[in-house]
Amino acid sequence: MSIKKIALVTGASRGIGLAILKDLSANGFTVLGTGTSDNSKNMLQNEMDKNNIDGKAYVLDIKSQESVNKLSEDIINDYSDTPDILVNNAGITNDNLLIRMDDSQWFDTIETNINSLYRISKTFLKPMIKKRKGRIICISSVVASTGNAGQSNYVTTKSGMIGFCKSLAKEVATRGITVNCVSPGFIETDMTNKLNESQKEQISKNIPMSKMGSPIDIAHAVSFLASDKASYITGETINVNGGLFMQ
Ligand code: NAP
Repeated sequence: MSIKKIALVTGASRGIGLAILKDLSANGFTVLGTGTSDNSKNMLQNEMDKNNIDGKAYVLDIKSQESVNKLSEDIINDYSDTPDILVNNAGITNDNLLIRMDDSQWFDTIETNINSLYRISKTFLKPMIKKRKGRIICISSVVASTGNAGQSNYVTTKSGMIGFCKSLAKEVATRGITVNCVSPGFIETDMTNKLNESQKEQISKNIPMSKMGSPIDIAHAVSFLASDKASYITGETINVNGGLFMQ
């Protein structure tokens, strides 16, 4: 059995997930992170080794229950334990106006961002219930609160995620498990690098702090929710968006 708590971060090979993984490690967790391919898993493992991070990188395609099951088995084989913290970070965008959206853009986004949430949360919740402790932290988005033209598929998943977390939080509150969301505004990663310079400029103009956020801003909120300091917080969403949306 591991003495340190184990945190599993999906989609940790880059962007927000990588920052979360590094910050959880800095806060004393053994960290397990995933990428979708051998290549991204190896890049993550190299990054972890370079930074003396205690943990391991795995391959995961969150769209496949088989892949989730394999990850769960591999973790048990490697650590004789299961994650105390699950960070549901992996996600995609596939933007288009609804009128122009094709079926694959809609269904792939729903499959990756929301059906996978059911899949992976259920898998790792079972041992948390047995242990009567655990944390599930989901990365939603500011657009879940504001809506966004061209992102009806993505926004459906990110607002669904908040409802999912509130419901699950109520189901497992007496089992010592908390379920919360962190809702980022616009953060500088590969996901937002798809935007052109004038789109980025327009976005920054609308943010009271006049700039996009950095992945570490999100990681700090996740580390707080994973810490003992947040033990009485559940079903909540922490907005981290430079003032773009205020509850
Ligand atoms: P990113 O840079 O595009 O990274 C996405 C991560 O998810 C990568 O590690 C990728 O793995 C992984 N991934 C993609 N498809 C997957 C699948 N089918 N199974 C498992 N993993 C998969 O994204 P990001 O900007 O860091 O965003 C991280 C999360 O924050 C997402 O849920 C996103 O919706 C949310 N968010 C981001 C922003 C923002 O402004 N960036 C704002 C609000 C919310 P590979 O490297 O192997 O492809």
